[in-house]
Amino acid sequence: MSRLTRPPIRTLAALCIAAWLAIATPLHADLVILQYHHVSDATPPSTSTSRSLFQAQLDLIAAQRLEVVALDEGTRAAIRGDLTNRQQIAITFDDAYSSVLSHAAPRLLERGWPFTVFVNTDAVGRQGYMNWQQLTELAAKPGVLIANHSADHGHLVRRPGEAHADWRRRASNSLDRAQNALQRHLGDAPPLFAYPYGEFSAELEQLLEGRGWFGFGQHSGAVGPTSAATRLPRFPMANTYGQLATLGDKLHSRAFPVEAASLPDGVLEQNPPTLTLQLPGALSHHHMSCFASGQGRIETRWDEQSRQLTVTAPQPFHSRRFRYNCTHPTENGHYFWLSQPWLDQAQAPD
Ligand SMILES: [Zn+2]
Repeated sequence: MSRLTRPPIRTLAALCIAAWLAIATPLHADLVILQYHHVSDATPPSTSTSRSLFQAQLDLIAAQRLEVVALDEGTRAAIRGDLTNRQQIAITFDDAYSSVLSHAAPRLLERGWPFTVFVNTDAVGRQGYMNWQQLTELAAKPGVLIANHSADHGHLVRRPGEAHADWRRRASNSLDRAQNALQRHLGDAPPLFAYPYGEFSAELEQLLEGRGWFGFGQHSGAVGPTSAATRLPRFPMANTYGQLATLGDKLHSRAFPVEAASLPDGVLEQNPPTLTLQLPGALSHHHMSCFASGQGRIETRWDEQSRQLTVTAPQPFHSRRFRYNCTHPTENGHYFWLSQPWLDQAQAPD
């Protein structure tokens, strides 16, 4: 090695320190998945994002210099913990409504941003939904994935009194028919599944796990190394939830550092339900904030010896789906974000 190319001792030392820091410093990035239905000013407000809000949301993502990635690759990388310091965003649409083609897709394609459309295949071609020709054209665009949202958009969790074999046949049939229709019409069907209504159970998760599919819900939070492949969170982006005032916190949120696979099956056994979390040493129970759907901020109980945080809402719930959301500040001014979805099958399906 010549004198000119040999790195000086001081540079070598600096390189060693940088390498040590890279190992010693915790990760500062995860994947945040956004979930849309309609992007329109003319569809039901509860499942719609107005055209102007959608544009403003995309502008904010761009202004924050966040990287928008494909859902399949982004999810795999986030679970592996490969994102290092680069927060990533993935964009998804459920139900393949016409407004996604007319209003949302052009805005995303002109930016070169990937996105995924989850299709309930029995509805394709019906009034208000894309048809197979449109889906085929969309699937041919760069970065667009068309994926499985069941065939019939059914409530796929086993019903009270439904025999296990009957349930398994019903759920498998809906998953298979959709996957086969995507394969037949589009020539490809990625191993990605969005639960209709965001409803899932441990049994349904096992069905997906057996197929090697990712399962995406409608509970909020980020995807990272502690996430479980069959209960992946997405932030709902309809008008009420997608407002800019809170979007920044969501875009920068981090996966909660508790193994998601250790969280309870959301199928309700008692009302109100109890969520117990084993907090890692880096988190303080003093900084935990927990909220319940419709009940605002709720009290938590802490057991110092076991480091267990227990969350139970004060009032029973009267809706079919509700959530406990808990946050804890990160070291750099953002939030670790956890959402536990619950499903009360005593309440009629919508
Ligand atoms: Zn849906």
